[in-house]
Amino acid sequence: MELNTPLKYVLGIGPGLSFKLNKLSLLTVSDLIYHFPFRYDDFSAIKPATDAQIGEVVTLKGEVWSIKNIYTRSRKVLTQAIFNDGTSPINLTWFNQSWLTKQIKTGDRLQISGKLTEYKKKLSIMAPKWEKMPDNPISPTLHTGRLVPIYPETEGLTSKWVRTKISQILPLTLKEIEDPLPESIRGGMLSLSDALSKIHLPENWEEAKKARERLGFDELFYIALATQKIRLNWRQKKVIEPLRIDLKNLDKFIKSLPFELTNAQRQVLDDVYKDLKNDKPMNRMIQGEVGSGKTVVAAVIIYLISLNKLKTLFMAPTEILAFQHYSTIQRLLKPFNIKVGIYTGSKKDSKGADIIIGTHALLSEKLLTENVGLVIIDEQQRFGVDQRSLLRSRSKVPHFLTTTATPIPRTVALTLYGDLDLSVIDELPKDRQKIKTFVVPKKKRQDAYNFIEKKVKSGDQVYIITPLIEESESLKSVRAAKVEFERLQKEVFPTLKLGLLHGRLKGKEKDQIMQDFKEGKIDILVSTSVVEVGVDVRNATIMLIESAERFGLSQLHQLRGRVGRGSKESFCLLFSEMEEPAVINRLKNLEKINDGMKLAELDLKIRGSGEIFGAKQSGRFELKIADFSDLGLIERTRKAASELLRLDPELDKYPHLAAKLQDQANIMPD
Ligand code: ADP
Ligand code: MG
Repeated sequence: MELNTPLKYVLGIGPGLSFKLNKLSLLTVSDLIYHFPFRYDDFSAIKPATDAQIGEVVTLKGEVWSIKNIYTRSRKVLTQAIFNDGTSPINLTWFNQSWLTKQIKTGDRLQISGKLTEYKKKLSIMAPKWEKMPDNPISPTLHTGRLVPIYPETEGLTSKWVRTKISQILPLTLKEIEDPLPESIRGGMLSLSDALSKIHLPENWEEAKKARERLGFDELFYIALATQKIRLNWRQKKVIEPLRIDLKNLDKFIKSLPFELTNAQRQVLDDVYKDLKNDKPMNRMIQGEVGSGKTVVAAVIIYLISLNKLKTLFMAPTEILAFQHYSTIQRLLKPFNIKVGIYTGSKKDSKGADIIIGTHALLSEKLLTENVGLVIIDEQQRFGVDQRSLLRSRSKVPHFLTTTATPIPRTVALTLYGDLDLSVIDELPKDRQKIKTFVVPKKKRQDAYNFIEKKVKSGDQVYIITPLIEESESLKSVRAAKVEFERLQKEVFPTLKLGLLHGRLKGKEKDQIMQDFKEGKIDILVSTSVVEVGVDVRNATIMLIESAERFGLSQLHQLRGRVGRGSKESFCLLFSEMEEPAVINRLKNLEKINDGMKLAELDLKIRGSGEIFGAKQSGRFELKIADFSDLGLIERTRKAASELLRLDPELDKYPHLAAKLQDQANIMPD
């Protein structure tokens, strides 16, 4: 069976099933094999019932003495069986599975797994897992008597089905699987086909662990290899001409700013100056939390580019941010005779501009002319890396600068963004005040509302963020926002003007609402967590977040960064439906810690997941099995990738690896 065979051609998978599989993004045989269990039930203790303890999870082998369905008064079905393993009779009960009497008959020999209990003095197992004993006594069982893999389920597709199918497919495909990892890197790890087989059907925990290690290594290694290869390719490109760094004029511009640059901002500028002097194109990411002054740094660099008689394209993730940058940059650069243009879906005015600010549309062949010296991408994580595909065919390219407010611990960034050089603005301007943050106990909710009302009446504005119900912006969370919006408007703030913002609104509607909020036509903006990163509403001083426990700490920190943009004292009020000390204590970190990077590291420790870096949202790299908190593995894979590329930059000796990278073609230029 070939790995790329569509699942619908696999025996036993009809149209209905293949529809369900597609919903899980399982299209091919390979997808199914790479659909990993997220845990195992340990049913490996096979013993006689009389040797087991009450409360122990065991597997018993025996015979069905009787089986029947019983209908309760509330019209539920219980299936009851008496089972005997040769040491004792055991009562088995299943709920609402009346079809079991068709599948299991008196006299059948079964293997069953479950927790042994005692009910009315009789040994019992509730809802045991079961399977018929194989005819051949040495054939392995699948659902009982072993470590049993449990898969993420979707409606109508059970773990049992996935397990069965995978166990049928694996023996037919494993010999198709070539291991792209050279022996020198694989070391003592399992081969790929062993790892794929053991991740699904390990014989013991040790095997499961080894399989995870190998597959996790692969995931991180290919990311590291891909990004480092992009970096190598990029470094072979040339820029149109090395730039002149006219420090005298640049200083003039910097002195014209209404504030002094922070040391961190200066350091970043130095990094960039060094890059730009080179004949190799820059590809640098500036990381700094909201309000750390990335846009101002960008303005200095834009000025430098224009001093070299070249143009800049500045790409923002949304129209409203494009317009915000347009007015900021214009304010800063107009006095220096720089013409600032705009290019978005609704407004195009870019003729003769030295810098054009816009949305995605900006990166078209038309605007990316020979005299573009710099491309700036604001909030990199929203785009992924497809922008570079535009430059594939060119030998001379512009410099690239990306900015992000997402705090990514350095080790992780080196893998995830291994193609970029990294500069960090780890210092906020001095005048910046801390956002006073409180985890508000349930009984003080009304007090919080009174406080908000008082603040609004004195002229401030407020964000209320409603729960994020699922990972992705879903209908449910939109509904939650709507319901909360109506409740607040009717019952809590009947005299104030409320607005509602959520991800299902059209771009234009969103922009309109943000615009109204900016202009003060809305007092309280009720929103899902889609409030645009970086939108600057200086008058907004309170952010209330519902169900805060659903967010990562660094996400909450980014959310609260949307208030406190002006000089007024600002507040963040966190509400949680849960009152467990662990939940509350996690949130209380935000009362004390004001450093996005520290909070991101805490997230790693507490939640240990890659999602928190927004990598998942961007789809840049999605980890199925490895974890970004595994810094040791990250470091190991990164070193292995760079060592390999150092010895063989074109991967000539490793055609399997080269092919593997081609598979990830969307992230590979050339
Ligand atoms: P970011 O893009 O990182 O969110 P901005 O560049 O938009 O940050 O800066 C946020 C605000 O802080 C702006 O109003 C900007 O004028 C101001 N600002 C930037 N750098 C400084 C500084 N060194 N000192 C004081 N204020 C600054
Ligand atoms: Mg910004």
